[in-house]
Amino acid sequence: MKAIVTGGAGFIGSHLVDELLLKGTEVYVIDNLNSGISSNLNPGAKFYNIDICSPQAKSLIKELRPDAVFHLAAQADVGRSIRNPSEDAKINIDGTINLLEGCVEASVRKFIFSSTSAVYGNIQQDIITEKEPTNPSSFYGLSKLVAENYIKLFSELFGLPFTILRYANVYGPRQQPKGDGGVVSVFLERLKINEPIQIHGDGEQTRDFIFVKDVVSANIAALNNADGMTLQISTGKSISINYLLESLTTIHKQPILREMVPSRTGDIKHSCLSNELAKKHLNWHPLIPLKEGLHHAYIQSI
Ligand code: NAD
Repeated sequence: MKAIVTGGAGFIGSHLVDELLLKGTEVYVIDNLNSGISSNLNPGAKFYNIDICSPQAKSLIKELRPDAVFHLAAQADVGRSIRNPSEDAKINIDGTINLLEGCVEASVRKFIFSSTSAVYGNIQQDIITEKEPTNPSSFYGLSKLVAENYIKLFSELFGLPFTILRYANVYGPRQQPKGDGGVVSVFLERLKINEPIQIHGDGEQTRDFIFVKDVVSANIAALNNADGMTLQISTGKSISINYLLESLTTIHKQPILREMVPSRTGDIKHSCLSNELAKKHLNWHPLIPLKEGLHHAYIQSI
C-alpha cells in the first residue's frame, strides 16, 4: 500500500508515519516544517518539503497516485488563529481543498482527515457526541469545520471516500508545548526548566486526554472502515487538571511546584468526547491508560 501523510514531521503525523512503515506501507510525507521538525522525520519515508497550498502538492498526489491520504498538516494553534485568521484559513481551508482536488484526479481510495473537538466551541455538556451542533469559538475550530464540509461535498460531488476523525486532547512524546490541546507538553516543559506549573482557576476543569498511539491506530483503522463518517477519537474519560498534576507528581517522584492563576476568559470548563461511535465503526478502542501514556511523554521530555 502507498500512503501520503501530510504533516508527517509534526507530533501526531510522525507517529503515524512510524506505524505505517512498520506495517510495510510505502510512505510519502508532505510537510513544510512550519511547526514540524526534521528530527521527527522517519528516514524510511520519502520527504517532500512543500506547502499543502502549493501546485506542487497537488501534482505530487497526481504523480504518486497513493491508495490513501492522511491529512494532518494544519495550522493547529488556537491563539495563532485568533491573531492571524487569514493565515489559518489559507492553510486549513485552501490547503485542504488543494489536496482534495489532487485526490479526486488521482482517484485516491481514502482521504482521512484530522479534525478537532474545537468544532463544537464552548458547549456545556458532560459528554459530547457527534450529534452535537457545531459552533466553533475560534477561527481554528471554524477552519477545521469548513474543511470537514468541503471534504463531505467533494465526496458527494466526485465520489471521494473519506473518514473524518475529531480528536480530543492528544498527548505524548514529540508534542510541542503549544497548539491544539498541548497542556501535558506545557506542564512537562515547565518541569524540565524547573519552573512552577501554572493552574488556571481551581484546577477542577476537565479534559479528555488520549495518547498519540491510540490516535494513530484510529487513523489506520479508518483505512478500511467508516467510509463517509465523522467520528470522535477520545477516551471518553474526564480528567481534571488537578488529577493530571497528581499523576505527573507520582511519575516525577518529587513534589511539583504549582502556581494558581486566574482562569482565562473563554476557557472551556469541561470537555469530554464520547468514543462509542468510533469503537463501533472502526472496531477500535483506546489502549493506553493515562499514567502509562504520561510516563512515555515524561521520559522523552526530561
Ligand atoms: P503539529 O503542529 O505538530 O503538526 C502539524 C504539521 O503540519 C507540522 O509538521 C507542520 O510543519 C505541518 N504544516 C503546517 N502547515 C503546513 C503547510 N502549509 N504545508 C505543509 N505542512 C504544513 O500538530 P499536531 O498536534 O501533530 O496535529 C496534527 C493534526 O491533528 C492537525 O490537523 C490538528 O489540527 C489535529 N489535532 C490535533 C490535536 C492535538 O491535541 N494535538 C487535537 C485535535 C486535532
